[in-house]
Amino acid sequence: MRKIPREQIELLIELQVKETAATKIQLVLDALPVKIAEIASVLNTFEAAIEAQKEHLAELKKLYRSFDADVRTNQERIKKREEQLRSVTTNKEYQAILKEIDEIKKASSRIEDETLACLEKIDAAESEVKEKEKEYAIEAEDVARQTADLETKSREQRQSLDELLSERNSLAEKIESSLIKDYEFIKPKARGIAIVEVKECICSGCHMNIPPQMYNELHRGDELRACPHCHRMLYVIQ
Ligand SMILES: [Zn+2]
Repeated sequence: MRKIPREQIELLIELQVKETAATKIQLVLDALPVKIAEIASVLNTFEAAIEAQKEHLAELKKLYRSFDADVRTNQERIKKREEQLRSVTTNKEYQAILKEIDEIKKASSRIEDETLACLEKIDAAESEVKEKEKEYAIEAEDVARQTADLETKSREQRQSLDELLSERNSLAEKIESSLIKDYEFIKPKARGIAIVEVKECICSGCHMNIPPQMYNELHRGDELRACPHCHRMLYVIQ
């Protein structure tokens, strides 16, 4: 049993209130970087989809270039065969070259069809890239807005935290050092809450009953008692 002026106990209670509030804010602030990263991660999905679509588009363009080259090669071949036609001497040879020209033309026509189909696919892929980039821009704006909101709230909370800590320090200066020492000793073993209220004989720290006599004595409000179960400092509201 230790005689303590009631005013000192009141200060200690107030100190605990400030510290608890500060811890709550600190937890929110600590979780903030993860929250911001989570919000930004939505954009990764969009970036990956745009990247995949761009790769697909690049492949289509490559295919288009190869079709185009084939068409040119065939045009050259036809030109060459037509020149040959002028110098052939036999009908058989003439017919053979004509047949060859016809085959090249047929092949070329097939390639041209494929080229057209490829161009259509390129157009579709380009539209899709644009569409996805538009969606990305909207999402990015939303992410930026949410992040800015969180940063504003975080600044406000940092300010509240600073105020609480400074109030806490002013209180601590008014409390006897031996009392602060006891308080700090109990705190880490009591999940940060060193001084708790007793209501109807029950410790609000561990929710166990304290002896009725101790409860009665606490009502005098001039001594510091510890909970026999959780060892927290106890007080009753008078
Ligand atoms: Zn207790």
